[in-house]
Amino acid sequence: MLLDGKALSDKIKEELAKKVKGYLVKPCLAVIQIGNDEASNIYIKAKEKACDKIGINFIHVKFESDVNEQEVINKIVELNNDNYVNGILLQLPIPPKFNQYKLLNLINKNKDVDGLTDINAGLLFKGNNNLVPCTPLGIINLLKEYNIEISGKHAVVIGRSNLVGKPLAMLLLQNGATVTICHSKTVNLKEFTKQADILISAVGKKDLITKDMVKEGVVVVDVGMNRVDGKLYGDVDFENIKDIASYITPVPGGVGPMTVAMLLSNVVKNYEKNL
Ligand code: NAP
Repeated sequence: MLLDGKALSDKIKEELAKKVKGYLVKPCLAVIQIGNDEASNIYIKAKEKACDKIGINFIHVKFESDVNEQEVINKIVELNNDNYVNGILLQLPIPPKFNQYKLLNLINKNKDVDGLTDINAGLLFKGNNNLVPCTPLGIINLLKEYNIEISGKHAVVIGRSNLVGKPLAMLLLQNGATVTICHSKTVNLKEFTKQADILISAVGKKDLITKDMVKEGVVVVDVGMNRVDGKLYGDVDFENIKDIASYITPVPGGVGPMTVAMLLSNVVKNYEKNL
């Protein structure tokens, strides 16, 4: 059965739009971009469109790649202090000459809608979640929407990034799963994937997961986004696994739309805190 992230994200966005309609002052998301990365331009446009649709104001601050770091710092401080801004997001990647770690950590923890500051990552680690990274949050919501049991299950996460793999492992732990995290140094990946009740691949390699690597009835969540000849693929050989899996996300239409919905939801969550 398909885990339809598009349908669930539409439902969540509809609910958010209804809420936002009732607010006198609209919530506001500010996105900071440094440089002109082509993929970033597309993602930012998509975020702007999604905000527009549900009535969230959108500020796009775009700096040239040769901007002085202090100017970026000043802007983050200004947005932190602006009571009308409920979410601040530093669009990644940024050019390597900037200190990404330092810039991310300047964002106020309650406006950090990507959940990437040390404070929010630490709170997640301790189980006192504040704002949680959008993709992992979207995945948990998608599993819950389909009443997929997480507690007691063996969840195998492939990928250990701060953006997806690690926070997802924390959320799965919080929900009672036994979690295995695999990565590029894992020896014999198949040995682990074969054991998974819930298998989540967040790597970025087309056809990394083939049908001989999964067991019958597995729940498969494919986070990967791989563009080949203009077409989008996940990490999972969807066609050959869909009949073995009990549930599986399509790419596109699975995790991607959930990520955007969770971003909007994090903005509204912070807005409501200040009502
Ligand atoms: P990332 O930072 O590049 O992390 C990739 C992870 O995969 C790393 O932990 C890496 O291990 C591991 N890896 C690489 N090759 C491997 C292999 N052969 N076997 C097992 N593990 C391997 O990427 P990310 O930001 O987490 O994103 C992962 C994928 O998800 C990308 O395709 C990205 O585009 C996609 N994504 C999608 C969404 C969405 O909304 N759909 C959101 C975010 C990301 P090491 O740590 O050892 O290097």
